[in-house]
Amino acid sequence: MTRAAGRLLSGARSAFAGWAPVAAHATGAELLEAVRPVLERRCAAKEAETVARWHDALGQNIKASAGWGPTVEAASDGRVDLLLYESRANQALERCSACGRIQFVDGGCQLDSAELERCDDGIDLVLHRTLEFGGTVLPVVQDGLADAGGIGALLRY
Ligand SMILES: [Zn+2]
Repeated sequence: MTRAAGRLLSGARSAFAGWAPVAAHATGAELLEAVRPVLERRCAAKEAETVARWHDALGQNIKASAGWGPTVEAASDGRVDLLLYESRANQALERCSACGRIQFVDGGCQLDSAELERCDDGIDLVLHRTLEFGGTVLPVVQDGLADAGGIGALLRY
């Protein structure tokens, strides 16, 4: 019981985003308006922290990918732990008609040589593939992925 309460408290502590001054008789809409900037600051801070972690991993050449080619390959192999992408990022990709593998380059599936079909909304394929393998995704609003063509990932291995 005490340990459960401790876990709850710790969970509540990590979910705490900040303070917002609100009048005691505030309506729901006013409450929402008051906490919105607090939550937006918290989201922006978490995003910046994650992009910095990705940059560090890239710099040390460990478990990270940048750009469409390496990130698509990692997503296809189920290696993406966290996908980072700019909301406007997109790229035509090839999808294997036999096994569903996605590729950046044309010319037959790298696994089974089956025919590939071109898909214009490549970002959707990468998102699906990442989630399918249990990874998570983070749309990035700040300008941290420009050098990578708007896409990158922290990898499992
Ligand atoms: Zn295939």
